[in-house]
Amino acid sequence: MNGPNPETQMQFLFALRSKGVTDESVLLAMENIDRGLFVRGLFSERAYEDVPLPISCGQTISQPSIVGVMTQALQISPRDTVLEVGTGSGYQAAILARLARRVYTIDRHARLVSEAREVFNQLQLSNLTSLVGDGSFGLPEQGPFDRIVVTAAAEDPPGPLLTQLKVGGIMVVPVGQSDHVQTLIRVHKTANGFEYDELSPVRFVPLLEGLGKDT
Ligand code: SAM
Repeated sequence: MNGPNPETQMQFLFALRSKGVTDESVLLAMENIDRGLFVRGLFSERAYEDVPLPISCGQTISQPSIVGVMTQALQISPRDTVLEVGTGSGYQAAILARLARRVYTIDRHARLVSEAREVFNQLQLSNLTSLVGDGSFGLPEQGPFDRIVVTAAAEDPPGPLLTQLKVGGIMVVPVGQSDHVQTLIRVHKTANGFEYDELSPVRFVPLLEGLGKDT
């Protein structure tokens, strides 16, 4: 894979900007992380389209503009430690690793984590750690986190993740029933509790309990 040609790259970035991704540091990270590395087989030809695409284990790599909107909403600083729940292809984790000091990403499918790790190694992302597990419990031994992003839809923001967010921290999570359109929520943790704002309607696979069967 040689990456997108200049015209395709221009169209890719144009699609991001036109869907509201305007933060230059996020755009630069997305310009530098080749989505084509994270899409395998037949669908690799469509890697630079602004659409979700199938990956292993019946999961999806999210639409690039949604990845951009979620990453932008996190307002990551280079000092931050970030937890991503839902590694999937690893694409968003790689982008986060370009913006943050340290990134942990977790998925319930061992096969997805192993495939994502191959690309992380290729990109030499030494500040990124990937783990297999049920991310709805977070990673208490590595927390608390400055930022948390959940890339699967929960009925409510999971309690353990709210606990593992630092005061002053931000969590972005799609909330709603799995078969319906969900709402992307941003949670700010303050000294007095939590503030929530609704960002946009989205559609994500559900946040499931336990480990996945690798098919
Ligand atoms: N961020 C991914 C990317 O950049 O390709 C897209 C993630 S995909 C839309 C959602 C992922 O969440 C799936 O890989 C799924 O296995 C994972 N997932 C669902 N429930 C989970 C849980 N409880 N813990 C960890 N991962 C979970």
